[in-house]
Amino acid sequence: MAKKLKNYVGGEWVDSSASVYTPVINPATCEVLGECPESTYADVDAAVKAAQAGFEEWRSTPILSRTQYMFRFKTLLEERFEDVAKMVVEENGKTRDEARGEVRRGIESIDFATSIPVLMRSDGLEDVASGIDETTLRQPAGVFAAITPFNFPAMVPLWFLPTAIVCGNTFILKPSPQTPISMDLMYEILHDLDLPEGVVNLIQGGKEASMAVMEHPGIKGVSFVGSSPVAKLVYETCTRHGKRVQAQGGAKNYIAVMPDADINASVKNIMGAAYGCAGQRCLAAAVVVGVGDAYDKLKDELAKQAQGLRVGYGLSETTQMGTVVSAAAKERIESMITKGVEQGAKLVLDGRGVAVQGYEAGTFVGPTIVENVQPDNILAKEEVFGPVLAIMQADDFDDAVDIINGSKYGNAASIFTNDGKYAREFKYRVNAGNIGVNIGVAAPSASFPFGGQKESFYGDLHGQGMDSIEFYTERKIVIERWL
Ligand code: NAD
Repeated sequence: MAKKLKNYVGGEWVDSSASVYTPVINPATCEVLGECPESTYADVDAAVKAAQAGFEEWRSTPILSRTQYMFRFKTLLEERFEDVAKMVVEENGKTRDEARGEVRRGIESIDFATSIPVLMRSDGLEDVASGIDETTLRQPAGVFAAITPFNFPAMVPLWFLPTAIVCGNTFILKPSPQTPISMDLMYEILHDLDLPEGVVNLIQGGKEASMAVMEHPGIKGVSFVGSSPVAKLVYETCTRHGKRVQAQGGAKNYIAVMPDADINASVKNIMGAAYGCAGQRCLAAAVVVGVGDAYDKLKDELAKQAQGLRVGYGLSETTQMGTVVSAAAKERIESMITKGVEQGAKLVLDGRGVAVQGYEAGTFVGPTIVENVQPDNILAKEEVFGPVLAIMQADDFDDAVDIINGSKYGNAASIFTNDGKYAREFKYRVNAGNIGVNIGVAAPSASFPFGGQKESFYGDLHGQGMDSIEFYTERKIVIERWL
């Protein structure tokens, strides 16, 4: 029977006060995996009260003891690694290896949090005036919350939770209602850590719970990851309510391929970037710009490699690309392909209407390639968030940079080249927060901040790395004289 999901508040599993539950559906098999409550303001309020009640004890727990919980968290998560990865496949639709990679990256964020006793240290200066010393303290700031998307249901919450709590804050997570069960599992693991009550809380739900998080006066700051329109809304609402906020948004990532690049090796890498997780990554390659005579070779090789990808159910080890997350996502992606073609794009490979034997009701979209894409085409401008790759032609390097910088997004951009001069110019001139050089998915590791510019990010301090320590702490300057 489908599991009716609960919230986790003050160290206990509790029923939501929701009157509405939405089914969580395996997009390949259409099996109903669970029922997700539409939690209310009252549910969020209960979590805030529990997090506030737990804050003083937790902030005064020695930091080395707070860190020890992360070592145990890592051990228990390693033991449940395959269970969590399997659930990611079942509720999200990606392949088993992609899910394993996601859980592994999540664990890297737990590793990062174990270095916080070093990173949270601050500085001081003696004798700023006669007999007066000045010191900076970094202190936890209170209750933090995160609102996270469907596409990395196990990893993205771990960008925030370990760092927030090791810094001494208490925490509330509101995951995506499309993929809430991975975090239900993760909180089973967290429950086994025996953290003090109220340190970690989980509220399942959608917009109503998000709004409550953004508006609740007891929450100090909010980390958000999701689409750009919602990131903007979260940024505006949180700042209006006096909160600290970091809001990572959507993307349209470009890859430039120079004529000197090794086309076969580049395309192999671009395949993973474009079609990994069925294109549902904020770092997915969406547009490949072939520079000069790279274009024709690139197009032929992309088509050859893409049409060989095995689409299927993610739990089958032979599957190379799984489903998109839902029937609604499939419909949206296919209609964007249709619109792009109406606006002049030419299909090289059409993934609409693909069927997988044994999973006929599954929400599969096959690898798709379109060429002749002009900058004002929907497939060049808007995030598709599906396995659709647009190819554009640039006359030269400068033209490619202009095309890329014309995008309203600035999440990631990559160049494939063997020429250091182009690589250097690309890093220097392209307006995107994560730059890849001969790397298709420019994903920062846990000790670096996750970049993002223009409409891909709203805020100042990014997630991960030193930015996250700044985000989750309050700085206090102490000036002292002892007579
Ligand atoms: P989404 O914006 O629809 O939802 C994200 C979260 O916001 C969910 O928890 C959802 O319940 C909540 N939400 C949705 N609409 C809301 C509203 N109107 N008011 C309040 N809360 C709302 O995003 P998604 O479809 O779950 O995820 C895909 C998007 O996330 C893509 O655009 C992708 O590029 C982006 N993403 C960005 C990054 C990054 O680091 N920049 C990483 C992963 C995903």
